[in-house]
This record gives sequence, C-alpha cells and structure tokens, in this order.
Amino acid sequence: MPALRDFRKLHPHLDTVLTSYENHTIPHALLIQGQSGVGKRTLARLLSMLVLCSSDSYRPCQTCDTCKRVLDGVHSNILSPKVQPGANSIKIDDMRELLDMLSRHGLEEGARVVIIEEAGRLTPQAQNALLKSLEEPFADTYFILTTSAERSLLPTILSRCSSLSIPAWDRDSMLKVLSLHQVDSKDAEELIALSGGSPGQAISSLQSENYWDTVKLVKETFLSIAKIEQIPTASNKLKNSRDQAEEILNILEAQVSLQLTPDITAVRARGINHMLQAILTARQYRASNVSWQAITDRLLFHSLEDLYQCQWS
Ligand SMILES: [Zn+2]
Repeated sequence: MPALRDFRKLHPHLDTVLTSYENHTIPHALLIQGQSGVGKRTLARLLSMLVLCSSDSYRPCQTCDTCKRVLDGVHSNILSPKVQPGANSIKIDDMRELLDMLSRHGLEEGARVVIIEEAGRLTPQAQNALLKSLEEPFADTYFILTTSAERSLLPTILSRCSSLSIPAWDRDSMLKVLSLHQVDSKDAEELIALSGGSPGQAISSLQSENYWDTVKLVKETFLSIAKIEQIPTASNKLKNSRDQAEEILNILEAQVSLQLTPDITAVRARGINHMLQAILTARQYRASNVSWQAITDRLLFHSLEDLYQCQWS
C-alpha cells in the first residue's frame, strides 16, 4: 500500500491538505477525486488513520492498536453506508441508517470518520439526507467522500466539501509502486502507458490472468506485420479474441504510444498518429457493433501502413 509520503509528492495541494490533517486542522468534509485506481480509497484510509491514531509523536504511526485496526478494516469509529447486496446505488434508507448510528452512543471514544466511497452512487434523496449532517455536523465527526465522477454529486454537496484531486501518478512514482510488485522496467513502462498513471489499474492488469497472453497476441499480430502476406495469418490468430477486445485495444494503444519518443522522425510520428486515430475509430466501430473480425482486419492493414511502411518512406 502506498504511504502518505508517496501521495505528498504527487501535487503541492495534496501536501498542504495532508499537513492540515497532521496539524489537527481537519476539514469537516473532504471530497477526494481522481480517476479509477489512482489511490482514493487508500488515501481515505490513511487520512482516517491520521485522524484516529493515538500516538503522541509521529502520526499515523501505523503501529499503535488504533492504526492496526484501521489497517485491518475493523475500527468501529470508521463508518460507511451499508449498501444492499447487488445494489448499484446508495439509497436514502442506507444513508439514514448510517446517520442514525452516528447519533447513537455505543461507538468508541474519540473522533469518528465516515467514508463514503464513490459518493456518486448516492441517490439524490440520499445526498439530501447527507447534506443535513454536512450543514449541522456531529461533534468530532469527519466525512471523507471519494468520487471519480464529480458531476454525479449535487452542487450543494460539493459546496460543503473541501476538495482534493489525486492527479495521475508520474513515471518515477509508478516505477516505485511497480517495483514492489517485482515488475521489470520494460514491462513497467508498458503498464504505465496502459494505465495512464493509475497504480490501481496497472496492478489489476498485472494480476489479470490473461494479461501477458494478450500482450503476446498483440505483439505477434499488429506489431509484427511487415508484409501484406502476413495479414491472413494474423487475422486468423485474432479471430477468437473478441472477448478480450477492450484489453487488446488498450494494450495496442499503449504499445503504439510508447513509440512516440522525443527523437522520432516527423514521418514516423505521422504514421503513429494515424495508427492511434485508427485505434480510436476501432473503438467507435465496436460501440456500433461492427464485427470484431472486420475491426481487427482494418487495424492490421493500418499496422502495415502506419507502423511498418512509414519507417522506410
Ligand atoms: Zn497510530
């Protein structure tokens, strides 16, 4: 799990907010924003630890009983709405139940943290119920909301939360995270391009059972075409890959983007940009239910023209 110092380095604003938590100037409600896998849940947990840690010196110490229970996810002063199994949204009754618990006694002494992950799942009615407690806060209670889609929250909620955006992770920070997972540097560059600076996405690709098989397939087909005669064989290899279509396009896009190096010739850069445009069109075709075989065949011809032939023109 990344540490607070890893988040600090990502942006000066993050550093400022973390310092305010350390100095006990804790915003009553904080909204953490950022793309999927960028570390919103981890940061919410680390901030809860900062609020609750009982150490007198360095906080969060990560070794006191409180920190350990936060890490294990069993601290009773950290509350979240209990969502019905299989439900996509957080309904007003889930929210009322949570607020009812907050107003009752029986929790441990000290501060309480309410974490609402992907707060965009709150229905408008549930958001209005939450709004009341943001306007008239319970004593020593801190709300941490996360979202990857700010627009799904009511303006009234947004106006009552301090906002914190986690940016995409820079290359060095990503390399550090990936090295903890024993990824070699060449694979790491590929994962960084693929994930757009989201460590969570990079790690979930890495843990996907078929990820490296799909990388191999992309390399042996789109990235190996040097003659028109090779296209039927490549097309045949891709024939049964429809279920991995999204992953194939993501990997191909990442691999092609990696070729846009600073010392590239203008002709080559143009070819690569054509190829990236062709991948974008392939995504649009997929959304319009064009057959996967037709999409991959078209991309194979683009590989020949945009990635191979333009090298020599
Ligand atoms: Zn502690």
